[in-house]
Amino acid sequence: MADHYEILGVSRDASDDQIKKAYRKLARELHPDVNPAPEAQERFKAVTHAYEVLSDPDARRSYDMGGQDAFGGMGGFGFGDIFDTFFGGAQTRGPRSMAERGQDALIRIDLTLDEVIFGAPKTLQIDTAILCETCKGSCTRPGTSMHTCDVCRGTGTIQRQVRSLLGNVVTSQPCGTCRGFGQTITDPCVDCRGQGRVRARRNLDVNIPAGVEDGMRLQLAGQGEVGFAGGPSGDLYVDVAVRQHEFFSRDGDDLQCILDVPLHDAVLGGVAEIDTFDGKVQIDIDAGAQSGDVVNIRGKGVTKMRGGRGDLRVVLQVETPTKLDAKQKELFRTLAKLRKSDAPKLAKHKPGIFGKRR
Ligand SMILES: [Zn+2]
Ligand SMILES: [Zn+2]
Repeated sequence: MADHYEILGVSRDASDDQIKKAYRKLARELHPDVNPAPEAQERFKAVTHAYEVLSDPDARRSYDMGGQDAFGGMGGFGFGDIFDTFFGGAQTRGPRSMAERGQDALIRIDLTLDEVIFGAPKTLQIDTAILCETCKGSCTRPGTSMHTCDVCRGTGTIQRQVRSLLGNVVTSQPCGTCRGFGQTITDPCVDCRGQGRVRARRNLDVNIPAGVEDGMRLQLAGQGEVGFAGGPSGDLYVDVAVRQHEFFSRDGDDLQCILDVPLHDAVLGGVAEIDTFDGKVQIDIDAGAQSGDVVNIRGKGVTKMRGGRGDLRVVLQVETPTKLDAKQKELFRTLAKLRKSDAPKLAKHKPGIFGKRR
């Protein structure tokens, strides 16, 4: 650590007055408001600390004898205070506004797949702070008004004369009585207990855009909590949860479903009719259809957020019949004899094959 005398640029036998002058001169050059460079701020701290030590007779004596800094670093007086003592305190601000921005609110919304595919108007029921209608956010009982703080006379700050070894200086601090607002509520609104806002349940109509996904968070600006004293509202966030559908699932902008195909339709081909979100749709099953074959129906998927729609993929799953009567069993035995050369064998791996759902 550099020598405190060197830092201030004074000799070891400098008088209190010389030390004070040296510090004042350096602080004027190095104060962050004047000289925002990081090195200057570091030096400013060092200079201020050196002054802290050397301006205190006991600390200076202890330092001269090679002891520890009496202030143990930046403790004690504190660096802002020292500076304020010299240069007339923090800039005087006016009273601060009571109205604060309200907090954001969060709710969850459950949507059906149908609502996601096409978008849907929804009424959200939300519990938030709203503006107190009685006092309109003024916090005071109607017909009365805020009381100008007696202590700070409405300025929100307290000026204090401090006698120091440098002479009389003025410091200013936020007024404790009015918490810096400059005004106090002497006759609070009964309905909101002087808060300017009350809790209430309300309905909010929103249009859920098509294509939203499970886990998305929508932001509704200004629909959150009203702030204290009628301050601006926070935002409302809506977490989207999409309920699972019995038959259809979503893959990006596409929808997919599984169609159980009876064995004879898979062998001979056939036609199926399925209920989709766009009404009934006819599915052609080719002769020789296999499990995993996909029938793609264009434009019947999810509405994309930027317009257009994805596809509906119908995945075929051939059903092996299980409840056979005697005659049907006999027919399969006959078929088995006719196709004796067919035997179970390992199939080559097919990457990307669409498997079973869930
Ligand atoms: Zn009120
Ligand atoms: Zn006050």
